Amino acid sequence: MLYEKRGLQYPFGLEWSPPEAVPHEVSDGVFWLRMPLPFQLDHINLWLLRDGEHWVIVDTGLYGDACEQAWEQVFSSLMRPEQVSRILVTHHHPDHMGLASWLQEKCACQVHISRPEFDFYYHLRTRDLDAYAVRAGQSMREAGVDEKTSLGYIRAFGKVNKAKTLSADDCEFLGDGAELEIGGRHWRAVSGSGHSPYHLCWYCEELKLFIGGDQALPRISSNVSVFVDSPDSNPLKSWLASCEKLQREIAPDTLVLPAHQEPFVGIGTRMQHLIDGHAKQLDGLRKSLQEPKTALQACDKMFRVKLDDVDRLLAMGETQSHINYLQALGEVKDTLGEDGMRRYKLVTV
Ligand SMILES: [Zn+2]
Repeated sequence: MLYEKRGLQYPFGLEWSPPEAVPHEVSDGVFWLRMPLPFQLDHINLWLLRDGEHWVIVDTGLYGDACEQAWEQVFSSLMRPEQVSRILVTHHHPDHMGLASWLQEKCACQVHISRPEFDFYYHLRTRDLDAYAVRAGQSMREAGVDEKTSLGYIRAFGKVNKAKTLSADDCEFLGDGAELEIGGRHWRAVSGSGHSPYHLCWYCEELKLFIGGDQALPRISSNVSVFVDSPDSNPLKSWLASCEKLQREIAPDTLVLPAHQEPFVGIGTRMQHLIDGHAKQLDGLRKSLQEPKTALQACDKMFRVKLDDVDRLLAMGETQSHINYLQALGEVKDTLGEDGMRRYKLVTV
């Protein structure tokens, strides 16, 4: 039976996933490895590709005991660490890259990642935290966030875990269009941006498989946010362009292997859901900015549900990405008030 929802087909069903740390073969030599996450989103999907006597790992899991133990279980069943010949990391987020240095040491092999993702990872782990706190405090004051909430956020997001920082010498940097031969088949890197600086997905036309990372999730939308480190960036523009690129480049009958939730067929449809969803949010924002608003006020209008402080600030980063998008189109102007808050308003002609 083929499960279908909102135009996407789920060949393995919507309810089923393999038990944690028990690899499940989804296609010839391609295994689905589910690992636990201690968040509301409670799992991540990693992918293991058989390459003759060797193995290629795609993404690594979150730093900490739970994912390390899961890996130990894999290394005592399907493969041994010395058989791992490459580690591919889609992007720098901690659930994807958290165990990269641990695995790299254990397997003694290179990590393949794009240079911008590595640079951002390195920046986050080595930046001057005092300077970051000043920058973050200033931008949150402008956005209308009170001092106490802002300090809590800076504490939560400035923290760096105890994992060893991966060195550039242990990496091989790849970009869009890079090809790897794995298990006698060609896998091609397809880049995307907006959720992170230069995310690499992996596409095998022959097997009709697409390892989508966080660029192609079936039911949740990836976070597309403006962060303190790059307040004037326009990630939503990059994100929408990436969605259109995947619609053009990935064949419609491809099985998408996402980093969260279940494998699905229907990438073009899914990308259209996302494009339409953002268009709707932009329309809502245009209406709300007919009156001047801070980023926080615009956020509370955009996300009507009550969020805790950290989620509210993440939502504010997402709202800011929509504001920056409209600003780049010349539709919104901002002014910095005497109270130190920046307010945005729709340009009326
Ligand atoms: Zn991510």
